[in-house]
Amino acid sequence: MPDRDNQLKQIKEEVINCQKCPLCRTRNLPVIGQGNHQARIVLIGEAPGASEDKSGRPFCGQAGRILDELLETAGLKREEVYICNILKCRPPQNRDPQKEEIVACTPYLEKQLKIIQPKMIGSLGNYATTYLLEKYDLSDKIAGISKIHGQSFEAETDFGLVKIIPLYHPAVAVYNERMKETLKNDFKVLQKFK
Ligand code: URA
Ligand code: SF4
Repeated sequence: MPDRDNQLKQIKEEVINCQKCPLCRTRNLPVIGQGNHQARIVLIGEAPGASEDKSGRPFCGQAGRILDELLETAGLKREEVYICNILKCRPPQNRDPQKEEIVACTPYLEKQLKIIQPKMIGSLGNYATTYLLEKYDLSDKIAGISKIHGQSFEAETDFGLVKIIPLYHPAVAVYNERMKETLKNDFKVLQKFK
């Protein structure tokens, strides 16, 4: 088994056994991440919802169907990218992630990124965007997602220069066609990183 697969499998084991924050007591299944371990594009959402908590797979509910449509617009299949979240366990009633939970959980995400070494990271929504911009010394660029969606920021990481592109969270388009058009437009940039 190639090295990346082994390393990601090890993270999976760690997350399955993780008790670093109280969400381990209320979740059903953790959602570690899914997709191509050699992906050039990684998409990062917020946290599992009800469907993801049941299946253990990211973006498998309504927002996931939108995400598939958006990827298709960019000529991409889900299998070509890697998809994960800031939090691996579902917050009860889908409440917002809390600071302590993000601090406890994001070391897993950091390890995932270091293993996959993407060229581009699409941050889906405010939580993923703020987290990444802070982490990569781009705090001065932090603004609401409605202001910075579709822009591209260059981050210096342990594995080289990576483009961070903030995107609206696909859930905003579930009942809003106009938002979907905006998202489709922003997603076209992913083609460049294929
Ligand atoms: N919303 C997210 O942010 N992540 C998922 O995996 C599903 C819905
Ligand atoms: Fe561990 Fe993250 Fe789950 Fe909290 S959310 S229990 S830190 S895996």
